[in-house]
Parts: sequence; structure tokens; C-alpha cells
Amino acid sequence: MQIIENYSLKHLNTFGIDARAKYFVELNSDEDIIDFVKAKGFAGHKTLILNGGSNTLFTKDFDGLVIKINNPGYELSDENNNHIFLKIKAGENWDAFVQKTIEQGYSGLENLSMIPGNAGAAPIQNIGAYGVEQKDLFHSLEAINRETGKVESFDKESCRFGYRSSIFKTTLKEKYIILAVNYRLNKKPVFNIGYGAIKDELKKMGSAEEISTKAIAQAVRNIRSSKLPDPEKIGNAGSFFKNPVIAKEKYMKLKNAFPDISAYPESGGKYKIAAGWMIDHLGWKGARRGDAGVCATQALVLVNYGNAAGHEIVALATEIQQSVKKTFGICLEPEVNIV
Ligand SMILES: Cc1cc2nc3c(=O)[nH]c(=O)nc-3n(C[C@H](O)[C@H](O)[C@H](O)COP(=O)(O)OP(=O)(O)OC[C@H]3O[C@@H](n4cnc5c(N)ncnc54)[C@H](O)[C@@H]3O)c2cc1C
Repeated sequence: MQIIENYSLKHLNTFGIDARAKYFVELNSDEDIIDFVKAKGFAGHKTLILNGGSNTLFTKDFDGLVIKINNPGYELSDENNNHIFLKIKAGENWDAFVQKTIEQGYSGLENLSMIPGNAGAAPIQNIGAYGVEQKDLFHSLEAINRETGKVESFDKESCRFGYRSSIFKTTLKEKYIILAVNYRLNKKPVFNIGYGAIKDELKKMGSAEEISTKAIAQAVRNIRSSKLPDPEKIGNAGSFFKNPVIAKEKYMKLKNAFPDISAYPESGGKYKIAAGWMIDHLGWKGARRGDAGVCATQALVLVNYGNAAGHEIVALATEIQQSVKKTFGICLEPEVNIV
């Protein structure tokens, strides 16, 4: 475990922001992480846990210690007639894991194909896509308490998962490092194709009659590739804002004023409004401020065309928030972790 000074983070965040860490350390195994926490290796420093860097936007150099989580791998932990339990380490690439579970014949994670980043971050914001959230397959996780150095287990209820949220983003923010996550996958396929775009893509692929886990994963990959910019080519962190959830009365007023508004009913009589629709409606798609821009194919994604600084991306995000607030009376909240 070597602490490096003045370390460039450009290759470690999918926005491709050229920020530097005052101190940087990479922890390559569970033992490394546990030893580092127990030795209070971060005492006296401001710290940041960095995993795949696909949900993190640096607005300036980090004046403290960046801890890169890099413990890879996954293993079978249990099984019964209907389910298999897999334990995936925090530093394992999420999509590689998802694709391996599909190849091995297990179902559950196919709708979450092609989400960048690593497994340890998946529960933090309860990643979701195409009608499925990781909480639907989640069994438990193991995390080390940064104060006591004890490894603790969290079941689903104690993680308090919500839309792009968990206890690790709220009450326990920065209090734990997640070491591994346990998922319960199905041996007999359970398909989730309620999402219109998946059905349409399956038809296009000629797979609508014979639906399979592999076909759904491929449909999701096709849809994502057609809409989302590849971070290898154009820096981005996926959806920049969360879709706001509003009361029915407010939704009815908006629907009256904007009959085309895109929204989905939620529990408790609320409505989730598509933030991308509002941003698109206001003409932001494809807008550019220097190298900071709004993706031309998906208005919810902000991009770095090359040399944008993090604060320039945030300035663009603020302009968008103000214009959405002015027209729709809604405050958009960032999904991305702004540092
Ligand atoms: C093109 C693109 C598409 C995307 N699509 C989706 C999507 O469909 N759905 C979705 O939900 N997200 C999506 N994302 C966002 C992102 O991929 C996910 O949020 C992913 O889970 C982030 O993983 P990461 O390892 O890159 O996290 P990082 O950015 O490294 O970290 C994210 C946060 O988690 C914390 N953290 C990370 N690991 C640990 C750990 N082991 N212990 C404690 N804290 C930790 C970090 O401190 C940080 O606050 C997309 C991003 C991109 C670039």
C-alpha cells in the first residue's frame, strides 16, 4: 500500500476531468482495505472513496486522500432449488459480472447490463435501469465501519434503498467502505420486459417470440448504445440529474400546461417526471458551453467534449436547473456525486 502524492485522476473518472489528488492510495484486496482502515491510514486527511469513477464529478483538485477500491472477484456463496447466491467484491466490474451471470444461465441482472462502474458502488445509489433496481436482486452486503474497523453485515431493510438512494448516501454517508455485495439470482428465468423500449427492441431483433435472459441483455445493450455516449469516447457520468417525484396535484397542473409531459405513476399517488423530457422541451439537447455540453441524443446526460473543467460542467448544470425551475417550478437534483 503505497501513498502517492499529487496523483492525476483523469483516467479514473468517466467524465475525464483532469483533477489531481493531493494523496492517493490503491487498495487491492479485502485485507488491504481492512488493514488500512484499522491502521487509521486516513486519519487527519479529508478522504474520498473512488471506485470505477463513473458517478463522480471532480470540480477541483482533491485536497486530501483519494482511496481507490480495487478488490476484484466474485464467488458462489449459497444455492437452493430456485436461487443462487453470489458474493461480488466491491472492486469487481459490474457489467463483466452481469454478463458472466447471464452466460452461466442465471437471471435477474440482465436489465442492468452495461452500467459502468464497479459493484461496491451499486448499492450506494441503488443503481437502476429499464424497470429493475439492484435492490430487487440484493440479499446483503459487508462493509467495514471506518470508525471502529469492524466488518458489519447489512440486510436489505437496513440499507433503506430508495430511488437512486440508500442509507450510504444519507445517514451513513462516508461512514463505511463496502467490501462485497451478495445478490440472489434466479435459476429459472423471471423476465422483466414491462419497459416499452425493451419490448420494441426484442421485436426488432426477432426475439419477441422466444424471450431469453440473453436476448433481454442484448436488447438493453442495443438501446443503451443507441442513446448513451460511450465514456471511452466522450466523457460523461450517465444521467446527471434524478427524475423528480412530485405530488399528484402538481402533476395535474403540469399535465394541463404541458400535455406531452413524460411521467410515470409512483407509489403513494405521486408521479415521477422524466427530467430528460423537461430539459429537451426547453431546447437544451446538443447545447454547448465550450467543451461542456448536453448530449445530443439524451438530454439528461451532460458531457465533456475534451477539456472541460468540472466547474464548467457544474455551471452548465446550474443553468439547466434554473431554466427547469423557471418553466416547470421543479428543482432538479444531481444524481452524480459532485466533489
Ligand atoms: C454511460 C453511463 C451510463 C450510466 N447508466 C446508469 C444507469 O442506467 N443507472 C444507474 O443507476 N447509474 C448509471 N450510471 C452511473 C454509474 O455507472 C453508477 O452509479 C455506478 O454504480 C457507479 O459506480 P462507480 O464504481 O463508477 O462509482 P464511483 O463514481 O467510483 O463512486 C460513486 C459513489 O460511491 C462511493 N463508493 C464507491 N465505492 C464505494 C465503496 N466500496 N464503499 C463506500 N463508498 C463507495 C463513492 O465515494 C462515490 O460517492 C451511468 C454512468 C455512465 C457513465
